[in-house]
Amino acid sequence: MFRRRARADREFREAQREAFALLQMHAHELLPFDSVRADASTPTGSASETIGPDFPPADLRAPSRQDVEGMMMRWMHPLVIDDAVRACATCGVYRDWIVFCMRDDSVWLRCRAGHQVYEPRLDAAWYNRNSGPVDHWHPTLEDGLRHLGH
Ligand SMILES: [Zn+2]
Repeated sequence: MFRRRARADREFREAQREAFALLQMHAHELLPFDSVRADASTPTGSASETIGPDFPPADLRAPSRQDVEGMMMRWMHPLVIDDAVRACATCGVYRDWIVFCMRDDSVWLRCRAGHQVYEPRLDAAWYNRNSGPVDHWHPTLEDGLRHLGH
């Protein structure tokens, strides 16, 4: 009994350590999974002042869905919906999308050229299945796009 618990604890600690190492590593990289802060009235640069002295640090907290305007991720591969590759209706590109999941659970696609369109065949459930954990907050949409390489 004790041994089993000790092993579980050790595994938990190791997983924690790995997750933390991963976080630190990714702090210096561009990551595909991001969120955009909801409060558009917050001037850029002062976001940290509004967060307060809570622990854990804001960087380590998972934002709740109510706190953000939407989630966003970069989708480098061709995006297949209903067995067809989704191409931008305006410019025809079919890879390197930014996929948004908005607070109302709608999913929007934005191509590299900035054409943005609502995609009714995708929803929040699809987004959650296909996105990783949120690890960045962005005060503005532009900041998020820049961070994702668009
Ligand atoms: Zn386009």
